[in-house]
Amino acid sequence: MHRVANFYAGPSTLPLDVLEEIQKDLLDFNNTGMSIIEISHRSKAFSKMITETEQDFREILNIPDDYAVLFMQGGASIQFPLIPMNLKKDGGKFTYINTGAWSKKAIKEAQIQGETEVLASSEDKNFSYIPDLKNLQIPENAAYLHITSNNTIAGTQYHAFPETGAVPLVADMSSDFLSRPIDVSRFGIIYAGAQKNVGPSGLGIVIIRKDLAEQVEETVPTFFRYKTHVDKNSLFNTPNSFAIYAVGLVVKRLKKLGGLEAMAKINEEKAKILYDVIDNSSLYQGVADKNSRSLMNVTFTLSNSDLEAKLLEESIANDLIGIKGHRSVGGFRASIYNAQSIENVKKLAVFLQNFENKNK
Ligand code: PMP
Repeated sequence: MHRVANFYAGPSTLPLDVLEEIQKDLLDFNNTGMSIIEISHRSKAFSKMITETEQDFREILNIPDDYAVLFMQGGASIQFPLIPMNLKKDGGKFTYINTGAWSKKAIKEAQIQGETEVLASSEDKNFSYIPDLKNLQIPENAAYLHITSNNTIAGTQYHAFPETGAVPLVADMSSDFLSRPIDVSRFGIIYAGAQKNVGPSGLGIVIIRKDLAEQVEETVPTFFRYKTHVDKNSLFNTPNSFAIYAVGLVVKRLKKLGGLEAMAKINEEKAKILYDVIDNSSLYQGVADKNSRSLMNVTFTLSNSDLEAKLLEESIANDLIGIKGHRSVGGFRASIYNAQSIENVKKLAVFLQNFENKNK
């Protein structure tokens, strides 16, 4: 078997033991004589699996009882329009903090639904920082405030969340979900596409305060109402069975590793290895402001851009895959989500140091 060090931003690397378990289960899931993608979503075996997965999420994130956990199709992007559609209230604006390309996509969908205001933005410096939100003025009747907790492309991350009072805080946590402990009770909605920290693509995990699902207008189609999915425990229609099952295995593994506190420590350690290389180098330059740096996506450029193609070519030759930066930022990006091993991160760090030494 040949496995490389995979630094793609998503879909991204999954734990090898989870992949092996999937492989084993694929012919016979829990003695059913069928795989998870062949059994009815109304069967006992499936029901046990999805119930346990939800419970594991509740345990690991300490989710209060007045929140629902939903497994929805359409990845994270379907949430961009669903949020304004469901949380619309008379005269209340949709408010946003714009910290990158994914925030902008969310904002665009809100603008289709109604009056939308961007309260702070870091677009002036190509999204290289998280705006200071200490004195943020949120309109009192705002329907919600939306943030993107980790900006996958620029490599920035919120290290503290804004105070929103009675206005629900809504967070796209696609690229740092389950990477650190969070206080769920501070949020109205948390959502994430699964394909970075938790599993395969095409699945959105939504944690929603139940009262927010109740206020939906009757003009919203049934499938697009959070209430529908809350009432039917994510089984209104045939769900993405395989992705839910895979996510369940990842969360179980996370529990065994010691939960989110343990995961956060490992993630800090991994990020430090790469940021130390960048900070002690004259070739590599971090893209993000130091106090806004992401522990998930480490972005950097080269002071000598002529070396970019060479670095990329040599990284691939060394089985370090997926470090090319997003075209809007340039340079490089190493995504080091939960499943990225510290060994792989060290390998990349040593490779970068050697590359710099050879090309001085
Ligand atoms: N939000 C963020 C922060 C992302 O990084 C991504 C995917 N890269 C998305 C949303 C969109 O996710 P999906 O492709 O699952 O719709």
